[in-house]
Amino acid sequence: MKISDLLKERETTVSFEVFPPKQWDKIDGTKAVVREMAKSSPDFMSVTYGASGSGAGFTMEIAKEIKDSGIVPLSHLTCLTSTKDKIHSVLEGLKENHIENILALRGDIPKDFDFPDELHFKYAYQLIEEINDVGDFCIGGACYPEMHPESGNRVEDMEHLKEKADCGLSFLTTQMFFDNSIFFDFCERCQIKGINIPIIAGIMPITNANQMKRTLELSNATVPKKFYRIMDHFGDNPESMKQAGIVYAAEQIIDLMANGFSHIHIYTMNHPDVAAEITKMLPCR
Ligand code: FAD
Repeated sequence: MKISDLLKERETTVSFEVFPPKQWDKIDGTKAVVREMAKSSPDFMSVTYGASGSGAGFTMEIAKEIKDSGIVPLSHLTCLTSTKDKIHSVLEGLKENHIENILALRGDIPKDFDFPDELHFKYAYQLIEEINDVGDFCIGGACYPEMHPESGNRVEDMEHLKEKADCGLSFLTTQMFFDNSIFFDFCERCQIKGINIPIIAGIMPITNANQMKRTLELSNATVPKKFYRIMDHFGDNPESMKQAGIVYAAEQIIDLMANGFSHIHIYTMNHPDVAAEITKMLPCR
């Protein structure tokens, strides 16, 4: 099923993200994670794609497992470090395996990376155009409520997002955010700019102190004072911190839903128990 249809049909959706392993001997472990998560009946599950492009086979294998578990798969695909030929072979594989949904991304720029030549795409919008030429896929893209770190300012960021959406995106998924007012403001700016496709809110449950540090390094997200107080109070007690992180994420989602934003994507970090506990707390489930 295409995610575009699913978003039209269902007033509320809750989806999960998983990441594939880096080694083949870990693939069965990740497949077990997928099967466990499927028990929470997410509306779809996404699987990330290694920034270097070398793990395409892992992503495909996990996308197939999601499908075999009875859940709609969304396969991520990055373009910066993959040649156009490589991208074509991934798209052929997705077609063969009847995987219809792709999150089309540029990927982060690796350290010491020589900028792409004519064999590569430089931006996500070029990948989106290519996917649309190759087949009948439902394509989503990434967006950044607090602006992409490489964008010069929010006007430029919104300009490029609009161009990307107009290349044939069916939905956008946001980078994680911890303060809903930032997301509300972003959605309003999208509307003003004429970006009218569904925006899925990406929520990251922070369940331990180290994860918080890594997350901030990667995402550049603003953390509300309320969350720092939770960390100060519970950070040294792993069980309490985990519970507090789960409740914070669930409250954030409930507030989004109460404000009319009912398409939610949970960055599960491959923790089925966290995904299940949050899902159980939501009024729609
Ligand atoms: P783009 O949309 O191409 O934008 C990148 C930058 O280029 C932005 O600053 C934009 O403003 C600018 N830009 C765009 N078009 C132009 C133009 N015409 N001229 C000049 N500048 C322009 N990474 C992975 O490696 N694997 C994953 O699986 C993965 N999944 C993700 C899922 C989500 C929901 C999100 C939010 C991010 C994910 N990422 C993933 C990270 C992502 O690859 C990086 O954030 C990357 O730096 C940008 O990707 P993009 O697709 O948003 O790029």
